[in-house]
Amino acid sequence: MAEFPRLPHSGIRVVIVGAGFAGLTAAIECDRKGHEVILFEKSPELAPLGDIISFGQNSSRFFSKWPGVWEALEPIIHKSEEVKFYDWLGRYATTQSFAKEHREWGPRVNGHRGEIHQILYRHALARGVDVRLGHNIVNYFETEDAAGVETADGQRFTADVVLAAEGVRSRGRKLVLGFEDKPQPSGYAVFRTWYPSDKLLESDKTRHLVANGDSHVAWIGQDVHFLAAAIKDGREMSWVCTHKDEGDIEENWQFPAKLEDVLRVVDGWDPVVLELVRATPPDRLFDYKLVFRDPLPTFISPKARTALIGDAAHPFLPTSIQGASQAMEDGVVMAACLDRAGKGKVQEAVRVWEHIRYERVHKIQATGISTREQWHKADWDAIWRDTDSLHLKREAWVLDFDSEADTYASYDGIRDQLFSGETAS
Ligand SMILES: Cc1cc2nc3c(=O)[nH]c(=O)nc-3n(C[C@H](O)[C@H](O)[C@H](O)COP(=O)(O)OP(=O)(O)OC[C@H]3O[C@@H](n4cnc5c(N)ncnc54)[C@H](O)[C@@H]3O)c2cc1C
Repeated sequence: MAEFPRLPHSGIRVVIVGAGFAGLTAAIECDRKGHEVILFEKSPELAPLGDIISFGQNSSRFFSKWPGVWEALEPIIHKSEEVKFYDWLGRYATTQSFAKEHREWGPRVNGHRGEIHQILYRHALARGVDVRLGHNIVNYFETEDAAGVETADGQRFTADVVLAAEGVRSRGRKLVLGFEDKPQPSGYAVFRTWYPSDKLLESDKTRHLVANGDSHVAWIGQDVHFLAAAIKDGREMSWVCTHKDEGDIEENWQFPAKLEDVLRVVDGWDPVVLELVRATPPDRLFDYKLVFRDPLPTFISPKARTALIGDAAHPFLPTSIQGASQAMEDGVVMAACLDRAGKGKVQEAVRVWEHIRYERVHKIQATGISTREQWHKADWDAIWRDTDSLHLKREAWVLDFDSEADTYASYDGIRDQLFSGETAS
């Protein structure tokens, strides 16, 4: 097995539940910091599910810290450095370039969720992380001295700290909150797909999107937006269409949808959009309901030995383009806090972690709503006077941010602020 750089053994035992981007990042970073990790995942195999996913520079920077990961990602990720905006009828409005931020802040990573996920999973295995698939965690417990989990078949595992990274339907949330929180419909859902682009190459309407390498195009209409990205030198196409959600579909990434439902939503739109929809293989079309959860009052359990990370703590709307990035930051910051605190002060680390994460996560979560409103409630008379107002906000405090360096720089100050006047355990 290849040797990876890691800090000396810390003796801190970490159990992680869920091998999504939050869980895998936490596992890899904890291994990098010398902690001992067991990662439980309920699925018996990690199939390459999903379609387009995005990582801002604040998270993509970690891919190059993990030997071999960036090299594996490079051939499969989206290469276009701009997005072109049109109105729903296909009238060109503006182009937003990302070239400057790529030069100054590093690359964004957009690609197939399943393919990127496989690369991280293989990296975790190559490092020797103990990943146990087919382990459904049904219960969490903790004492002052330890935390633990129980599997569906009754096995119990204890550790110094447990990270619940089980996505939006987290069971760990009950331990942390003391009650089950209820998701509410956001009023929107997203049709999503990913398919080979051969048919698009044959059509006069869509050839320009795929014939010259990767491209990225947005069409903005009233309460609907449609984003298309050609990937892998134009050989594959991914599009997403965020629309009002009147149906009662489940919160599920793999919920099938019908082409005629999409065509109804984009009736009368730019013929290019209609062609992209008609070219979609019906079995590759999904409808993902966007649910809303009130921000949780806390991400950590009463004894500060269990923490919710990733979507379990803070589901994001896709229009924030930060869900996966914030899930990764959670794991990076936790591994660094545990390193900084040491085995005897795990609860201190968990409390400092929450302090570091809470405000940043919620401020970024709010951008999901503001971007959706910016597009869906667009006043086109005003937009034609200032087409750049369609551009995505790209803010340095979100993207040009190194959460690992920030944790080491801020840890002592936050610890002193939280524990002044008491002896931290
Ligand atoms: C199948 C799937 C497809 C997705 N497709 C997309 C996409 O195309 N585009 C996009 O932007 N985002 C997608 N997402 C969501 C995206 O990956 C997350 O929003 C984001 O990366 C945060 O990740 P997470 O690790 O917090 O949660 P998730 O990615 O949801 O991962 C949670 C993991 O925990 C496991 N788990 C849940 N409960 C238990 C339990 N009791 N015991 C053990 N393991 C458990 C789940 O099986 C899953 O592997 C998808 C998520 C999933 C699960």
